[in-house]
Amino acid sequence: MLVQQQDLGAEYYSLGREEILDRISQRKKELQEKVLILCHHYQQQDVFQFADLAGDSLKLAKEAAAISDREFLIFCGVHFMAESADILAGEHQKVLLPHLQAGCPMADMATVGAVSQAYKELLSVGIAQDEKDMVPVTYVNSSAAIKAFVGEREGSVCTSSNGEKVLKWALDKGEKVFFFPDEHLGRNSAAALGVPYEQVLLWHRGEFLGGHSVQELQQAKILLWDGYCEVHMRFLPDHVRQWRLKEPDIQIIAHPECPRDVVSLADQYGSTETIISAVKDSPVGSKWAIATEVNLVDRLRRQHPDKEIHLLAPSSCQCTTMNCNQPVNLLWLLDNLAVGKVKNQISVEPEIAKSAARSLEQMLAI
Ligand code: SF4
Repeated sequence: MLVQQQDLGAEYYSLGREEILDRISQRKKELQEKVLILCHHYQQQDVFQFADLAGDSLKLAKEAAAISDREFLIFCGVHFMAESADILAGEHQKVLLPHLQAGCPMADMATVGAVSQAYKELLSVGIAQDEKDMVPVTYVNSSAAIKAFVGEREGSVCTSSNGEKVLKWALDKGEKVFFFPDEHLGRNSAAALGVPYEQVLLWHRGEFLGGHSVQELQQAKILLWDGYCEVHMRFLPDHVRQWRLKEPDIQIIAHPECPRDVVSLADQYGSTETIISAVKDSPVGSKWAIATEVNLVDRLRRQHPDKEIHLLAPSSCQCTTMNCNQPVNLLWLLDNLAVGKVKNQISVEPEIAKSAARSLEQMLAI
């Protein structure tokens, strides 16, 4: 994230919550033929209530692009999500982010410079003869530049729903797989495929050869970049054990960005969409402890008062960067659009977009 969010001005900060929400509703009606508001599941309710489309990042990007008559796509999510929407959107569509500092720290942990250097080091010691021998797979939670790096090397994007499938494709295709930026999605997917633990190595950023000997790297099948989601890292195996003691009939479901020792103790794991479906389809009276972002868990609790729904951890696990998108930022963006000013546009350079689209298309083909 290179950019600074513009100060909205004192007028906006003097507004009360109700006035902000009323004014957003009015602006939304005025601009309904031009503007589509997309909200990720982790967005706070005061913003989420204005969603025309809700979902996970890729689903939102694809659905928004299909609604081609709206010129402005306001993406209430984080920077990489807005980039994906821009890559898939039509040329006449502009993607806007309510707050420019709404980024994803995990995505920022893998930069193209650092990943390129890792590839150079692996080639320099003969771990691979060609870059394409190390098939790159990137989680959709990554910058457009990383997706382009992957596309140029005939790798693929994956999501939290299809991590196993894409990893299997990559293992069948090349000698080794380099997975970034999330260690945990990579490790959980590798475990589900039965890849032996010792064949999965963690690449430590900033250390020569990721901190490993040539021999260790030769034996490895999968290299995992050491990125992580600071929200999902807050769930611990002890939280699972405590819930099982307290409520023996509770079901535990975890997002695959959680560490392996949490996922392995859970009853199920899966993407936000999987979690939503599992809760929705469960019988009345079901008890759930859920390991994912708190706004989604709170929303599920409100939507299913006939079920007992808890956050797995005792303290709040909020994606603070996504929640930089406050209602006042959404109002400011809409007010500007109403007078013809386009603020906070996220656009990906055409060359990068072209290569990044290849890695997204590869995933769809798998
Ligand atoms: S929840 Fe984690 S992975 Fe998702 S946007 Fe926030 S920091 Fe990034």
